Amino acid sequence: MPATPAYPPHSAPRLYLDVELADGAEIRLDGSHAHYLLKVMRIKQGDPVKLFDDRTGEYLAHVAVLGKRDLILMIDGKTRERESVPDLWLCAAPIKKDRFNWIAEKATELGVDRIMPVQTARTQGQAIKPEKLRAHMIEAAEQCERTALPSLEPLTKFTDMLEQWPADRHLFFADERIHETGEGSFRKALVAHDGPAAILIGPEGGFSDAENEMIRALPQSVPVSLGPRILRADTAAIAAISLWMAGRGDWNPA
Ligand code: SAM
Repeated sequence: MPATPAYPPHSAPRLYLDVELADGAEIRLDGSHAHYLLKVMRIKQGDPVKLFDDRTGEYLAHVAVLGKRDLILMIDGKTRERESVPDLWLCAAPIKKDRFNWIAEKATELGVDRIMPVQTARTQGQAIKPEKLRAHMIEAAEQCERTALPSLEPLTKFTDMLEQWPADRHLFFADERIHETGEGSFRKALVAHDGPAAILIGPEGGFSDAENEMIRALPQSVPVSLGPRILRADTAAIAAISLWMAGRGDWNPA
């Protein structure tokens, strides 16, 4: 049955599959995907399922064959092309595991294009599990109906990040020290700096003085304040992404 404004119901399950999808294809699912559809969603023969592949777009499929631990979906048609999301990266020092997973999930929902964990002097040895982080990002993308996943970079040393910084990308550096100086208006920074961007957020202990100087020495760096209060790193990340998305992203209709 082709997609219409009323079909499939909003409650139809939506899954990311790491395989190129195409109209008319048959997809056999087992393992966790099958468990989710069969046991959690209690899907039935003929039920609709939305799929996306982060390559070609989103498709509507239906359950063609129902097994005990596997099932076959038949793709009925493409519903959306793979989207292009605003060119914003989140560069953030890892913080406590579950909170960093939370940052990755929220940043995905908010529309970032890339997440880069950055090892800074005061990063408290939070080992991140990329596969776990990516699982949180995929789940967020399934839920918020993205058709493109953010890319997840490997943990990057602070100095390497600066050395390899792209010449054309503004680095909005969230600096909790500048509020009282009156500089760092995010609104003015957004007006003055269009184009590819990144937001840089420090760890619970903040950036060291040396790091602060190195960031400010980067020609592309744009120090910004997130107000007079000291925000937790996860709060700061979400606040900064939201400000950028509202000012330069895809939140305001053209
Ligand atoms: N240095 C303080 C500390 O040791 O608790 C605060 C660090 S804060 C928890 C972590 C990061 O969030 C900072 O490095 C900065 O990137 C960002 N941040 C927090 N509050 C901010 C604010 N009011 N303005 C700009 N950035 C802020």
